Amino acid sequence: MERSSTLLKAARIIQEQREEIATMETINNGKPIFEARMDVDTSWQCLQYYAGLAGSIAGQHTQLPGGSFAYTRREPLGVCVGIGAWNYPFQIACWKSAPALACGNAMVFKPSPCTPISAVMLSEIYSQAGVPRGLFSVVQGGAATGQFLCQHPSVAKVSFTGSVSTGIKIMEMASHGVKPVTLELGGKSPLLVFSDCVLENAVKGALMANFLSQGEVCSNGTRVFVQRDILHAFTKEVVTQTQKIKIGDPLLNDTRMGALINHPHLKRVLSFVAQAKEQGAEVLCGGEAYVPDDPKLSSGFYMSPCVLGNCEDSMTCVKEEIFGPVMSILPFDTEEEALGRANSTCFGLAGGVFTRDLQRAHRVVAGLQAGTCFINNYNVTPVELPFGGYKMSGFGRENGRAAIAYYSQLKTVYVEMGNVESVF
Ligand code: NAD
Repeated sequence: MERSSTLLKAARIIQEQREEIATMETINNGKPIFEARMDVDTSWQCLQYYAGLAGSIAGQHTQLPGGSFAYTRREPLGVCVGIGAWNYPFQIACWKSAPALACGNAMVFKPSPCTPISAVMLSEIYSQAGVPRGLFSVVQGGAATGQFLCQHPSVAKVSFTGSVSTGIKIMEMASHGVKPVTLELGGKSPLLVFSDCVLENAVKGALMANFLSQGEVCSNGTRVFVQRDILHAFTKEVVTQTQKIKIGDPLLNDTRMGALINHPHLKRVLSFVAQAKEQGAEVLCGGEAYVPDDPKLSSGFYMSPCVLGNCEDSMTCVKEEIFGPVMSILPFDTEEEALGRANSTCFGLAGGVFTRDLQRAHRVVAGLQAGTCFINNYNVTPVELPFGGYKMSGFGRENGRAAIAYYSQLKTVYVEMGNVESVF
């Protein structure tokens, strides 16, 4: 209950500082302020959620023959390391630290060097809320610092959010100390749009699945499979709505797309578009560096959101995670075909389906090889629900009750109520 009340205090301070944190996050990351505010909200909600669970973390009692019994204790792991990506800096720090602290661990958190600021704000908030000194620490740095933390003998667990290639290295390093890891990695998630869907909702869903945070979202449904008989109507409306997205100063309330994280990343995303064209895809809109009218934004890393038509499963833009505002549209004919193609990837973070057919919706999500699935919506991630990947998108879960298992260990205690019956 003490942990719970401290987490609740921290959640309240985050709510009070919502605008300050969101502004800092936007300046640091480039995402529009309306989204940064949503990130701050899912952050304090996460603290509230684990504050609610903290007092319920418990073991079980089992009665055994002869009056003897056993019980289990759910114990903390010790010092957990959190390593974050740059796309949701504050939210990632909260999604890792809240369950870690609720379970009685300490956390050393390393934010991405691209977005170092908001994790420090979180550590100040935890201190103000009464979290004992040293229980949540922030260490700044890049790969070398991350490696140091993963290899440190006093570290009991590593929870990592980032790319697959770094995730593999983390797992390798942690394996030397036989340390448990949680890996939240990349994706190339499918969104299946059937002709019996509510078209307007499916279009909205496709935009939500691709263009939040400049497309720099791990769970994005970037492979949009569309049943052939609605391909034309769907594509036309998606392009119309995509062209309406307001790009510009991320600190303005009505901006819907801000700047990408940095120049090398912008170049990389644009090169995916160029390669898609070379491989035969058609750019239906966007896909270019964008210079806003405001002169103070002229050196920003903006690009226009891109919809690619004429795509094929073998194209690089369809196979690889782009991590930018680039949607690939892929026609399909049958449910079986769409499902097979959707699963034909090494990733498995998320997936979605738009249909009015209840049975089809559940059949399709049951068949999708992905950790989080959406029926008739996309990219909605309430903290009450576990989030994490299948296949090379990682393992372990954040959020929901499930995360408790990943920040604690189980001790079994046998209690003898009789005399020892020795075989010797
Ligand atoms: P990244 O893998 O380059 O870096 C992530 C973090 O790891 C950073 O803090 C970085 O400094 C650190 N790091 C880099 N090399 C390291 C090493 N050798 N040892 C230890 N730490 C190291 O990823 P990124 O570019 O920051 O983020 C984008 C990626 O993150 C995308 O692939 C995206 O899909 C993924 N992501 C996944 C989730 C999820 O929940 N599944 C959420 C957000 C982002």
